Amino acid sequence: MPADLTPPTETLTPRPGVAERLSRMIQLPTVSAELDSRGAQPFEDFVTLLAELYPVVHERLELERVTEFGLLFRWAGAAASAQPVVLMAHYDVVPVDESDAWTHPPFEGRVEDGWVYGRGALDDKGPLLVVLEAVENLLLAGFTPARDVYLSFGGNEETYGAAAQEVATTLRERGIVPWLVLDEGGAVVDAPLPFALGSAAMVGVGEKGVVTLQLSARGDGGHASAPPRITAVGRIARAIDRLDAGTFAARTPAAITRMLSLFANKARGRDQTVLRTLATFPALTARIFAAMGGEPAALVRTTVAATMQQGGTAANVLPSQASATINLRIALGETAAGTVRRVRRRIHDPLVEISVVESSDPSPESPTDNAQFGLISAAVKASYPDAATVPFVCMAATDSRHFHRFAPAVYRFAPLEMSNAQRASIHGVDERVEIASLEKGELFHRALIQRLQ
Ligand SMILES: [Zn+2]
Repeated sequence: MPADLTPPTETLTPRPGVAERLSRMIQLPTVSAELDSRGAQPFEDFVTLLAELYPVVHERLELERVTEFGLLFRWAGAAASAQPVVLMAHYDVVPVDESDAWTHPPFEGRVEDGWVYGRGALDDKGPLLVVLEAVENLLLAGFTPARDVYLSFGGNEETYGAAAQEVATTLRERGIVPWLVLDEGGAVVDAPLPFALGSAAMVGVGEKGVVTLQLSARGDGGHASAPPRITAVGRIARAIDRLDAGTFAARTPAAITRMLSLFANKARGRDQTVLRTLATFPALTARIFAAMGGEPAALVRTTVAATMQQGGTAANVLPSQASATINLRIALGETAAGTVRRVRRRIHDPLVEISVVESSDPSPESPTDNAQFGLISAAVKASYPDAATVPFVCMAATDSRHFHRFAPAVYRFAPLEMSNAQRASIHGVDERVEIASLEKGELFHRALIQRLQ
């Protein structure tokens, strides 16, 4: 830290009531997938609530509505010509399965024993809240950032909506290329991989692409007592069977090699030797991770998951048609088009029709040896002193992918602690965040904004 910068912890006392503010956000059921049944009112109420909870932000920053569900705040920095920072989050949440047993009702926003419970606590209202908390606190302290800071909040991330995309397009059309974009994706976690112990701030430097395909086949129908050699159902089953784990080659992204060498620095003894070896030989790492399956395999190659299937009308009738849906997550460095070509070759059956339901290319990979990654590391040091800042590749899509097409430094990290159980609660049951972590998250953003140059 430069000598002229007072540690941010000493410059101000954050406003009390952070848990209650998150609770109020959770109480608004901004479920984007249920927009048709619930209507847009919860989303409008959320926008109104933000104005109530963050009065100084709303007084001092320009707010622009981009599409019905995009909020873009601009905080003017000292140097008008400098490239801005974009801090992103989304305020919509995924639905709750009514049959799931939540300890507290998912939209109650219960605050209990140092925790805030409810849908959106981690994904992504908690991360949105800590951005606003930091900005409000800095404004109250009379702080002006060195460069413009944009806050971009979307209301349809979970439904792949257009809000964030339109925000990205709007900035691009104005000739604004962000210096840094920070969105959800990574978190502060314990033991991020089976062999890597200790606390780590996992920062996503890229995200995998996605393609969803429908495979369909037709048959002649008829009575099941005299079947042909293969039925439509059998043809689809065979096609899926051919898309086994070896369909796509494994390759280690640069970020993963960097991640392994950082973990090696922290490890001791045999673990250290193993991690050093993996960091030195990316091709070997790709083979080993692929063989491990699960998350390690997903880091190094395109994955294939058969997710839905249907066909046939009765137990004793040959199916006249059958189909299946497969969801592929495309490795960095590959393309959606190339992925579809590979699937077609692998299935090797002209009678299986393949149609693309949706597709999105993987993002580029942001560097880890630049000032932006250094800034994120410094803000992690200020808020989570024990955590190492480690790059990785996000498996899931985030809104930041719209920026990554034209901005070179896009990172995916929400400065909140997430245990394995908490990570499982995202899109699941008993989603919750610790109040202490919200306080550290606020400090992270404050430190980041204060250190801008
Ligand atoms: Zn999210």
